[in-house]
Amino acid sequence: MDYQAVLDYIREAVEPAFGKGRVADYIPALASVPPRKFGMAIQLPDGRNFTTGDAAEPFSIQSISKLFVLQLVMSHLGDMVWTRVGKEPSGDRFNSMIKLEMEHGVPRNPFINPGALATLDLLMSLKGDTKQRLRDYLRYLSMNDTVQADPVVAQSEFEHAHLNRAMAHLMKGYDNIHMDVDELMETYCHQCAMTMSCVDLARAGLPLAMGGYSPLHEESVISTSQAKRINAVMLTCGTYDSVGSFAYRVGLPAKSGVGGGILAVVPGKMSICVWAPELDAFGNSYVGAAALEMFTSLTHTSIF
Ligand code: GLN
Repeated sequence: MDYQAVLDYIREAVEPAFGKGRVADYIPALASVPPRKFGMAIQLPDGRNFTTGDAAEPFSIQSISKLFVLQLVMSHLGDMVWTRVGKEPSGDRFNSMIKLEMEHGVPRNPFINPGALATLDLLMSLKGDTKQRLRDYLRYLSMNDTVQADPVVAQSEFEHAHLNRAMAHLMKGYDNIHMDVDELMETYCHQCAMTMSCVDLARAGLPLAMGGYSPLHEESVISTSQAKRINAVMLTCGTYDSVGSFAYRVGLPAKSGVGGGILAVVPGKMSICVWAPELDAFGNSYVGAAALEMFTSLTHTSIF
């Protein structure tokens, strides 16, 4: 398979999809990202990678960070995480609170905002500096020591995080948040403001495609059963309330973020990251989803 030709073809073929989505602006610092950026990278287990467009340019990973926080929590605390969050799709927006009260402060899954807050709360209960732990993990996985948070984006979200703060207080009222809410919010905004490129994220996602083993580091990062479970939750919850149509169109476990990135996993074969900042109505990259749909159709890599 000539992956380079496939990626270059997709970069041209997605051109008509630009202008149909909108860059996230509820976090003001994200509104200034140039909307026409497009990058795509794939990482193969044999060490080869292929890229096109702006694949080397760092962007705000936003909710893709939830995938790595979950990995850290599962590797330190195991299945205990499932006592604090569920593993069912929510059917609601990523920042919805509608079910949270009815379900006594237990979020549906770790990839919607309330679920990510509960997961981060668990990570913060461990000894040590949580921000540094996450940064070091991302640097290790991506093999890039320059990965860091963008303080302007973190501050911008912190100042506008009214819904997330409300969720955190609601969950604290149900004893499903144990940390101080201000500290939790500050750490959450920092987590979402991590900046990485498609190349970095494709590398960081490879262990999920390889049963938890990182061929690039020649060691296991998470267990095989953890990788299986995380992929299942990505497939069913990773793209919010459009997860059904995403599975229908793309057919891969994936995690998106409002920075316009989507990290997708082809089990046993590769990881893929695409970045295009214009979002659809559900908060997923409009052009990114179209690119992944083309990729799995052209390369027959859907899991279905
Ligand atoms: N930081 C964003 C928020 O909490 C992340 C949301 C997302 O990427 N879907 O709203």
